Amino acid sequence: IMSKSYNFSAGPAKLPAEVLKQVQTELLNWHNTGASVMELSHRGKDFDACAIEATNDLREILNIPNNYKILYCQGGARAQFAAVPLNILGNKISADYINSGYWSQCAIKEASKYCQVNEQNVVIKQNGLTAVKPMSEWQLNDNAAYVHYCPNETIDGVQIFEEPNFNNKTVVADLSSCILSQPIDINRYGIIYAGAQKNIGPSGITIVIVREDLIGYAQKILPSVLDYKILMDNDSMFNTPPTFAWYLSGLVFKWIKSLGGLKAMQQRNQAKAQLLYQFIDQSDFYRNNVVAANRSIMNVTFLSPNEELDKKFVSEATQANIIGIKGHRIAGGMRASIYNAMDQEGVNYLIDFMQRFEKQNH
Ligand code: PMP
Repeated sequence: IMSKSYNFSAGPAKLPAEVLKQVQTELLNWHNTGASVMELSHRGKDFDACAIEATNDLREILNIPNNYKILYCQGGARAQFAAVPLNILGNKISADYINSGYWSQCAIKEASKYCQVNEQNVVIKQNGLTAVKPMSEWQLNDNAAYVHYCPNETIDGVQIFEEPNFNNKTVVADLSSCILSQPIDINRYGIIYAGAQKNIGPSGITIVIVREDLIGYAQKILPSVLDYKILMDNDSMFNTPPTFAWYLSGLVFKWIKSLGGLKAMQQRNQAKAQLLYQFIDQSDFYRNNVVAANRSIMNVTFLSPNEELDKKFVSEATQANIIGIKGHRIAGGMRASIYNAMDQEGVNYLIDFMQRFEKQNH
């Protein structure tokens, strides 16, 4: 039986212990209602206040201008793969999609049902390592309704740090695995969306941040629950929202604020990632296949000398209370997801284990 584990899961992922403790304290009697937050009507004044507070805190943390709406959806980031084209294609028939890895490809596959997708692969090899072409080399089409990309490819461990700057182009970004990890300039995006289960809260809720002028052009066939206009007009309560996930996400926003906001998160995250990459680089046992400029600070992928040792690593790591470290089945190897809630102590613990494993198996 494990009493404490070091959780490197890609998602659902580790949540801040302080937040979970608060949830535990107030689980049976929330705000003196005598009931659990998950037992209360989403239309009651207590939950309503909690929902608004979460939105205000998120707006503050991400510095979201007033002409952007914050919507809460269900169906995960994958629902947004369909919701985006169906909400904002308008009378256009095509959209540009940047392919930088697995999740970009999933978005392309889904969008292809609803529009003509101009797919552009931006992944290249540099000295055998994976790299992403700079944005200045991305070719965008004038008649495309928008350009979609994924700044952090969770499975590949590939991140694009440049922020978009394409004149007058509507940029849509899937921030599922990097939202709230560092400050971003919201004005550069038309739509940002992210499933909650990495840096926000538990699974079941998806945050969509949309520039107002993009709302109101939905295709008739779009299911109402995914229609940004309907969500906006109903304060994201057209259907019953995942209230518990919303409440808990709000506690995570407060936790981020208490630590100093996104600048502080960025410093923490960069420091953690650097520790891990530096260790991998100085070792001749482990390796990472991504160029320094595109190494994810959220999902650190690495390999041991062979598949058998990868397996052994994962199994012995589990015995050492390290969980969620196995790479995605399509990528193999290992992946340490080090989202906001993972602290430096956890990363040091992992590095100590990696060191021991290397000595014993070199
Ligand atoms: N996009 C990215 C970048 C992801 O990491 C994930 C989930 N790992 C998804 C989309 C899919 O998210 P969901 O399961 O919430 O639909």
